[in-house]
Amino acid sequence: MSLSSEERRERLVDLYQEVQACTRCPLHETRTEAVFGAGDADADVIFVGEAPGAEEDRQGLPFVGRAGQLLGELLEGIGMSRQEVFIANVLKSRPPENRDPQPLEIEACRPYLFEQVRLIEPRVVCTLGNFATKLLSGNPAGITRVRGTPQVHELGGHAVFLLPLFHPAAALRTPAVKETLRGDLATLPGLLAGPPPVPAEPIEAAIREEEDAAAAPQPDADQLDLFG
Ligand code: SF4
Repeated sequence: MSLSSEERRERLVDLYQEVQACTRCPLHETRTEAVFGAGDADADVIFVGEAPGAEEDRQGLPFVGRAGQLLGELLEGIGMSRQEVFIANVLKSRPPENRDPQPLEIEACRPYLFEQVRLIEPRVVCTLGNFATKLLSGNPAGITRVRGTPQVHELGGHAVFLLPLFHPAAALRTPAVKETLRGDLATLPGLLAGPPPVPAEPIEAAIREEEDAAAAPQPDADQLDLFG
């Protein structure tokens, strides 16, 4: 059941406080500030990056460096602003020297992200870069292969469009990546305006149904005739 805006904000504030005090993994020992995420609690879109960098760790805010600035500019290019989306990372505390997140850290921190998605109930989750895309899609395919094509997933208890995108930091390094990111982001308004995401039937359920149908006694030809 959907929360009212007020309930959503209250629960996000509770979660924010929990993250600030979190000691679930060793990263709490080296972080300056936990970076919960920021933006509109009623957003239709959540952007998810990997982990806070040095500047984010100092300020306690996500995407405050050049990559964040580029994301803001690209959003303006499609008539949106940072204020109307929510921006977060998979990890809420910075790994020292920006090293790759460790499995134990991901396992400890991912419930916070899923709870954010559950509370905000976005229609679209844009994963930025390889790390967030692989984690949230559950698919090891690299970002170069899957970028720009929306997938439907159940995240935080409801169906969302997952839109894999290049990370803005990669776009800063390579002009061609920036243009691809710009083009992929241009599909976002269509996802927001079109029909809602419909989850695919779970594969196991479909197989079970087929097996049940095959095992069920088949009506003989006479019976079939009765219902011409
Ligand atoms: S990274 Fe996540 S789990 Fe680890 S201390 Fe920070 S908030 Fe807690």
